[in-house]
Amino acid sequence: NPTALVAGNWKMNGLTESLAELEALETLVKEGKSADCDVLICPPFTLIGAASVKADAVAIGAQDCHGAVSGAHTGDISAQMLKDAGATYVIVGHSERRADHFENSKIVKVKAEAALAVGLTAIVCVGETEAERDAGKAVSRVVGQVEASLPEGATSAKVVVAYEPVWAIGTGRTPTVQDVAEMHTAIREALIKRLGEDGKAVKILYGGSVKPSNATELMGAANVNGALVGGASLKASDFNGIIDAY
Ligand code: 13P
Repeated sequence: NPTALVAGNWKMNGLTESLAELEALETLVKEGKSADCDVLICPPFTLIGAASVKADAVAIGAQDCHGAVSGAHTGDISAQMLKDAGATYVIVGHSERRADHFENSKIVKVKAEAALAVGLTAIVCVGETEAERDAGKAVSRVVGQVEASLPEGATSAKVVVAYEPVWAIGTGRTPTVQDVAEMHTAIREALIKRLGEDGKAVKILYGGSVKPSNATELMGAANVNGALVGGASLKASDFNGIIDAY
């Protein structure tokens, strides 16, 4: 089984003072027996540099990058800039980016390739809407997103897949453990089809309303190798409660 990864996505939250939570998390991770998994925090761009200086046991990542190396893209951030600021991971294709910035899987794939080109690990996000699940199309939709979003040159060391059902994000609702296992197993099969034996070693994270009280159950489902956590990653004590599932 791949080493687990518990990743926090702070989204558009966090000011300089929030680095105190990161410092508290550092202490908890160092003290705890939670070394059985990798721990990652993805703060907003503005905090990556300062967070990287403070973080040691916790890896630092970004929430997005541009697909191009550099150039006339006002307001955008390249993968190399993220690496330069101290990031080692970048999330691409989060459903909020897909919805708010009209990013499709073709764009997400280019972003993931930009990340790999500079040595960042890409966390490629996929997930169905509630309407797609109700229509019985969740698995085909998500497998299609995986196939279309995975970068050229993907390996288990360079790419993580995060399954986040759109309807479970920030809602307090989660799929059943059976539904999570079914989806993660379908994603695993798609990864093996694409990458061969190495597809077995790609981490597949579950995200959507993960909290300390449901982490053990969700993380125990087949082919779940960690979590991508939004709201519950903002407080070190909550986030550590999820890490404790490992
Ligand atoms: P919540 O944990 O707040 O539901 O958010 C999940 C998510 O979108 C993480 O990327």
